Amino acid sequence: MSSRSVAVQAIEAAIGRVREDKMSRLEKLANEIKYVIADFCGPNDVKNLSLTGPVMYTVIKPRETEMSTKHVINTIGIDLLPLAVARHRAQRTGWRISGYNQGPDKMDRDINRFIDEYLRPGLVPRSAITYNFNFTAAQDILEFHNAAVYYARTLAEKAVKCGPRAIRKDSGRYSALQGSRRMEVPDYVLNISPTEDKRFKEAMYIFETACALFPDELSASLPMRSVMVRFFRSFAPWVNQQVRCIQSMLENHLYFMVSVDNSMAVKLRGQPTWGPGRSMLSRFVIRQDLATIYRLDVGANLLEHLQVVEAQRGILQRYREESWLPIQDEAWLLRNPHTNNWSLEVDHIANKYRESDEGPMAAWYRTLLDRNIDDVVLNGSESIVACETCLTKWGFVFWDCQKLDWHSDNRLVSYEQMAILATGVSVDNIDLRRNTWGRGRGLCDCERPWSERFERSSGYYC
Ligand SMILES: [Zn+2]
Repeated sequence: MSSRSVAVQAIEAAIGRVREDKMSRLEKLANEIKYVIADFCGPNDVKNLSLTGPVMYTVIKPRETEMSTKHVINTIGIDLLPLAVARHRAQRTGWRISGYNQGPDKMDRDINRFIDEYLRPGLVPRSAITYNFNFTAAQDILEFHNAAVYYARTLAEKAVKCGPRAIRKDSGRYSALQGSRRMEVPDYVLNISPTEDKRFKEAMYIFETACALFPDELSASLPMRSVMVRFFRSFAPWVNQQVRCIQSMLENHLYFMVSVDNSMAVKLRGQPTWGPGRSMLSRFVIRQDLATIYRLDVGANLLEHLQVVEAQRGILQRYREESWLPIQDEAWLLRNPHTNNWSLEVDHIANKYRESDEGPMAAWYRTLLDRNIDDVVLNGSESIVACETCLTKWGFVFWDCQKLDWHSDNRLVSYEQMAILATGVSVDNIDLRRNTWGRGRGLCDCERPWSERFERSSGYYC
């Protein structure tokens, strides 16, 4: 007899022994009422409820998948579900913690299969009835979603204050300089719009999926480079930049939280405890899943946990420091077949990765053209796009057009204008890489408030 048959018989026998006068009030309720109660609970609570005894088990267990799936869809929403499934399946490979279990060639094949299954067709929203989650899968998906929502909001709210124009708060009112006068800041600049919030959430999911599939240094090496390019080409190039921003913002946030803990230690004991280096934090956020980081962060156990990781010397050594595609934009650009140079025309990208708002695409395109095209139309926004560190803190590729326009005083030109400038223009490999390098490590006093530098160059200060 199978173990399942034995279990079923044991439950039936247990139910037979349950006396109605010994039942709890919950167990005595009609099944329809029990289902209504279960609908208000998360998967973990329903699972625990089913384990309280044979009565609840027999009511809940047959509807496990239906209940869990409904809860996931109601919480996450159908649009985000393909990415939620991809993130969940990527994490379940175990590569993030245990490392790759095969050589590069076989891993390349496995990750290609993953992309085929979960990213290519999976990014097209499917009907709700095609999804099925058991309690355990639902719990993992919801725990991650909870953390992703928290960090999407936290990182967006920090970034929105780091734009080129300084925003000052006096007596609850927000103002900024316009010429020599102080003007009230519009709500659309201060608030995170639904489309911006969605971008932050999606980027959190893609960031975590990338960390789970490409955790090791090995994954960035030549045998596996093409599959990493293929993964990121499932998304737009500005999404690659969003993932880069997310990692940097998350590191900065954790660094800040650890600094707060250390400030407390100085107050209490007169000296700081230990603090992590930047390189350690880069590797840590690639190794550690977001739900755990969230628990450590809100539970104020982050510093303690990082000390434990530090004590396990070498544990982070094999991890990458970058979650994004390091060669940046070339993976999306086309080469001119005659000259072999990179074309700066990107209509094929704009058509393939359509966005509801032009902001992220235009912001990304402006950085691509920077230094590659010298034109008076672009000169007005040079000071804005000159430094990738400042752009990253601001999260330049997340914002809607109207927010970008306000911060740049309408000097970030439209996609259409840039497309005209780029018509027929191509650059060779060396120039493209040198110009990208220049943006990443340009002459910028990043420690000084960006707004101060920007306003002086723009004439905001009279
Ligand atoms: Zn800078």
